[in-house]
Amino acid sequence: MQAKTMRLILGDQLNLQHSWYKNIDKNIVYVMFEMRQETDYVTHHVQKIIAFFSAMRAFAQELEDMGHRVIYLKLDDENNTQSLTENLDLLTKKHSIQAFEYLHPDEYRLKQQLDGYCQDLNIDSKAFDSEHFLIAFSDIAKYFKKNTSMVMESFYRKVRKQFKVLMDKDEPIGGQWNYDKENRKKLPKGHVPVSPKIFKKDVTGFKKLLEKHKVKTFGEVDPDNFIWPTTRAESLEIFQYFLEECLENFGSYQDALTQEYWSVYHSRISFSLNTKMLSPLEVIKQAQAYWEKNQDKISLAQIEGFIRQVLGWREFMRGLYWINMPKYAEMNHFNHQRDLPKYFWTAETKMNCIKQSVSQSLEYAYAHHIQRLMVTGNFMLLAGIHPDAADAWYLGIYIDALEWVEMPNTRGMSQYADGGLVASKPYISSANYINKMGDYCSNCSYDPKKRTGDKACPFNSLYWNFLEKKSELRKNMRIRYSYSTWDRYTDEQKQAIIQQAESYLDNIEQL
Ligand SMILES: Cc1cc2nc3c(=O)[nH]c(=O)nc-3n(C[C@H](O)[C@H](O)[C@H](O)COP(=O)(O)OP(=O)(O)OC[C@H]3O[C@@H](n4cnc5c(N)ncnc54)[C@H](O)[C@@H]3O)c2cc1C
Ligand code: SF4
Repeated sequence: MQAKTMRLILGDQLNLQHSWYKNIDKNIVYVMFEMRQETDYVTHHVQKIIAFFSAMRAFAQELEDMGHRVIYLKLDDENNTQSLTENLDLLTKKHSIQAFEYLHPDEYRLKQQLDGYCQDLNIDSKAFDSEHFLIAFSDIAKYFKKNTSMVMESFYRKVRKQFKVLMDKDEPIGGQWNYDKENRKKLPKGHVPVSPKIFKKDVTGFKKLLEKHKVKTFGEVDPDNFIWPTTRAESLEIFQYFLEECLENFGSYQDALTQEYWSVYHSRISFSLNTKMLSPLEVIKQAQAYWEKNQDKISLAQIEGFIRQVLGWREFMRGLYWINMPKYAEMNHFNHQRDLPKYFWTAETKMNCIKQSVSQSLEYAYAHHIQRLMVTGNFMLLAGIHPDAADAWYLGIYIDALEWVEMPNTRGMSQYADGGLVASKPYISSANYINKMGDYCSNCSYDPKKRTGDKACPFNSLYWNFLEKKSELRKNMRIRYSYSTWDRYTDEQKQAIIQQAESYLDNIEQL
């Protein structure tokens, strides 16, 4: 029997709970494609592509097991044109399709492509909400204003009230909205965190497929022991592990930096969330329910810290992305132009914090938020790296990287290239912060206490140089304190620091 309607499922739309799948209708065929269009738009970490393909195949199988009709084109399928719209055209003709339906893509480039495609179609077409985010796609403009600085905290309080999360009627449980101040500890000496929950799956076939088709990737993979969850069942498993083993320490150590452990108490559910194998609301509700039953061991600060990330930051970033695209992708507030040094792909640098954060990212396609923000991102901003280069690196390297969340985090929060739409100040620091939060500095060739001279930590002179050169920031109340410290240096000291920074920047590849 010919299908009448063709429904497209993109690689990050693996939401088994979507209302599309409630009823089995043989007039509907679901289509999914592994495509060069998607493997090649930026150079990805090898684990990222394998995780997506593996999760997509598992999802297609689950749909088939439920009784749905599915056409799945693997990368090496002879009918695969490697282009989204050409594949759609081909299947429309082949199966005499009469209507085309799709879920709103979360990335601007895909939305443009599909909206454009539908305009020229001579069959009916319709877009549906992905039923994933708390804020429906059509409601984004009710919460966010174009080109306007927004405060995450206000948004967070509003949605907490709206979705009744950690609320006691109209007041936050515990009387306080935010426990961030309690969540800034480094790991105590000798502290051994729980071992990370990993999956040991054989992905040799995927690795060979990418090699055979010469898909350009970077990073490492152990094909006999692939660690990431790629099904909903595995996603639920890693989340449950987080609740049982990590949540009680999540908030306290979420900012801690350690070179001993690549994973500490973070949830590592971002890939599962961003592919929609997990829903944010189920994660929030289950985490709250787990905390309610285990308040003897899990403090309010831990659960609030976790919920703020998923309910607050994640939805906030998505809203800002959509309201400001496509202009957002071109913003370069400081007009930074420098290329990213080669050690971002090799980890061969004397700066131990960068070395550790990059080498762990190459090995696992993962780094936690503070490694991304206050180590690699901090360095990129202080060194004046072009935001396009920063975006391409973060979009390629992390397992969870999709433009709607990567870009506002990178271009906005980390690089301040949007002039403050996301962040109320640039997230920069000298070695002081990195040294305070972990053990990178005590194993480094550079001296975190020195600003100039032999072995002076590059973060120090680059930090003061940045503030000196961006004097417009003097008006920003949140960093006035740093300027008052800088202003206490003598002209001679200032000159030596600036000279040190300029010499480091001239020799950036040698750092
Ligand atoms: C420069 C930079 C680039 C980033 N790129 C991405 C990206 O491509 N994809 C991505 O999902 N996150 C990105 N983040 C945000 C954050 O670092 C990751 O979500 C987090 O590290 C994922 O690990 P986890 O699942 O262990 O998170 P946890 O620390 O356990 O937090 C739980 C969940 O909260 C959400 N979350 C936490 N912080 C943020 C945030 N700032 N923005 C949005 N969601 C958040 C994530 O879904 C995460 O899975 C980026 C941050 C920075 C500074
Ligand atoms: S001394 Fe400087 S370069 Fe070395 S780890 Fe510390 S902050 Fe990084």
